[in-house]
Amino acid sequence: MSVSIHPEVDRGMTPADESFTGGTLRCHCSDPVEVTVSSQCAHNHVCGCTQCWKPDGALFAQVAVVPSDAVEVTRNAEKLQVVDPDAVIKRHACRDCGVHMYGHIEDANHPFHGLDFIHTELSEADGWQPPQFAAFVSSIIESGADPDQMDAVRARLNELGLPPYDTLSPELMDLISTHKAKQAGVL
Ligand SMILES: [Zn+2]
Ligand SMILES: [Zn+2]
Repeated sequence: MSVSIHPEVDRGMTPADESFTGGTLRCHCSDPVEVTVSSQCAHNHVCGCTQCWKPDGALFAQVAVVPSDAVEVTRNAEKLQVVDPDAVIKRHACRDCGVHMYGHIEDANHPFHGLDFIHTELSEADGWQPPQFAAFVSSIIESGADPDQMDAVRARLNELGLPPYDTLSPELMDLISTHKAKQAGVL
């Protein structure tokens, strides 16, 4: 039995369009919140943490980053509310359908300040960078995934070309550590 990771991944990923310049994210309401993103995304990945929004029944979320200034709420902004005001990433969700539209970091000292988190599956546009890796894989257990299933999950992720990590990718972990080292004056 093949493991289902996320609908966008399970149905087969398409390569990024080199000339892609963004698209419009829409929540699941018939009168949706719209967020216009005027940039290709980066570091797209599937995420197993308990905080990222996932479609019903999915083991993983699919989440990417874009420059914060490329994100603009263009419709029904009044329906947005912050899921957890105490979290570092302020995830703005539609209060009616619960879909997360974008996550924003206010802390100027945070390594990812200046980047917003988005779910490219909310856009009908083709050409987004597809997922590159799987983050926080072990954390799916915290959402109820069977621990005995983990070998099969990691095998499937490898088969899909999504290297499984239990934190972020080495590239992003290096970025975080470089940021911390510079703040501490070590670099
Ligand atoms: Zn909605
Ligand atoms: Zn996550």
